[in-house]
Amino acid sequence: SSGSDENDVVVVGGGPGGYVAAIKAAQLGLKTTCIEKRGALGGTCLNVGCIPSKALLHSSHMFHEAKHAFSHHGVKFSNVEIDLPAMMSQKDKAVSNLTRGIEGLFKKNKVTYVKGYGKFISPSEISVDAIDGENTVVKGKNIIIATGSDVKSLPGITIDEKKIVSSTGALALQEIPKKLVVVGAGYIGLEMGSVWGRLGSEVTVVEFGPDIVPSMDSEIRKQFQRSLEKQGMKFMLKTKVVGVDTSGDGVKLTLEPASGGDQTSFEADVVLVSAGRVPFTSGLDLDKIGVEMDKGGRILVNERFSTNVSGVYAIGDVIPGPMLAHKAEEDGVACVEFLAGKVGHVDYDKVPGVVYTHPEVASVGKTEEQVKASGVAYRVGKFPFMANSRAKAIDNAEGLVKILAEKETDKILGVHIMASNAGELIHEAAIALQYDASSEDIARVCHAHPTMSEALKEAAMATYDKPIHI
Ligand code: FAD
Repeated sequence: SSGSDENDVVVVGGGPGGYVAAIKAAQLGLKTTCIEKRGALGGTCLNVGCIPSKALLHSSHMFHEAKHAFSHHGVKFSNVEIDLPAMMSQKDKAVSNLTRGIEGLFKKNKVTYVKGYGKFISPSEISVDAIDGENTVVKGKNIIIATGSDVKSLPGITIDEKKIVSSTGALALQEIPKKLVVVGAGYIGLEMGSVWGRLGSEVTVVEFGPDIVPSMDSEIRKQFQRSLEKQGMKFMLKTKVVGVDTSGDGVKLTLEPASGGDQTSFEADVVLVSAGRVPFTSGLDLDKIGVEMDKGGRILVNERFSTNVSGVYAIGDVIPGPMLAHKAEEDGVACVEFLAGKVGHVDYDKVPGVVYTHPEVASVGKTEEQVKASGVAYRVGKFPFMANSRAKAIDNAEGLVKILAEKETDKILGVHIMASNAGELIHEAAIALQYDASSEDIARVCHAHPTMSEALKEAAMATYDKPIHI
């Protein structure tokens, strides 16, 4: 069996954290095995997260544009229809192609792939309940836990993935619900709400807190919420769901103000519970080897991703830090670099965050609220896409760029972009931040015309001096 000879590295979990760690380890010359219970590589991200959601966001956006925007460009149809099964199969094909692609990368890099559920026997041995029924023991000098996260459930709400769905069910609905209630206004809820809203659902987002996406710069957030409202999304903030009744045709929700008060009821066909994600470690038998966790169930690690148990490491959604695929990948690479005797590094303060709605919202570094709280004197430079020639040319001018820089040194502290392609535009800012650039550094870089990236240059000019085009 695959367990008979010892590995240098055994990775438990084949998500973006785990599979990237496994490939990198093999590239660094370490004998590596990756164990995955799902039967497909890519984890949450590829199977039920980032990728299928982006597929549906793109397809639904195309439909919405065909219906509402193409005629402004002189492109007319007599009829536009949705073929939901075709839309879903496009998404499924994208997912299966990509998961098989990772299997190919494992072969190419000589990573051993074991399909099954792993649990600790000792700090250097994992017992695997294999998917094909055969049990094995996989041994490793080093073991990396990359078991990721799972949907957070809410008390009193049972997810059946039909009427009450998690993001996983929301990615695979077989009918367009007339009324969709999204519980939780984080990025996953807003993305999935956008998909179904564009396809025709009436979408209401119920959020316990006072704000949507609380981590967002509040000035950007206000504009973003207005934009979503213009698209027809409704928000009930400071509201909690105290009960759901699925006995009838649809779902009857009982709502209450977050601070207490009179209850109201609300009808929906489908309810999406998107109240966050929790680290997933069940069935791993971590208590057997004594791995330390925090109160939220996250595995505690030091700056080398080592747990308190020697030889056992953890990366990705299962440890503290932003629960994002690219952060998990960075963890994976850095962890393995340390194992190979090199130096790895991940700066959690410079992990970009993107909400893939339309427009997208992307940010890197500090929000204005965080800069204010830090007590540093700062400047703000902004530039709206209404004044950007490319955005105007293509009639896609919603949004703005906002740059925060230290007043004294002009060093960039944070960049926030709302734009149709903000998720791509943000990386110029991510590089600037990583290299401790000033806003003047960005402004003095020649940007091609006409591009939406010029808005970043102009916002940089507005930070330390004056923009040209507004
Ligand atoms: P995971 O991807 O969760 O992978 C862990 C893997 O370990 C799983 O495949 C699981 O089956 C396996 N596993 C667990 N326990 C065991 C065991 N005992 N034995 C064997 N295998 C085991 N992030 C972004 O950056 N961008 C996005 O656009 C984005 N969109 C998202 C949309 C949705 C709807 C969701 C739900 C998430 C999204 N995320 C996004 C978050 C992203 O999916 C996660 O941050 C990322 O997948 C974390 O990677 P990971 O490797 O730590 O864990």
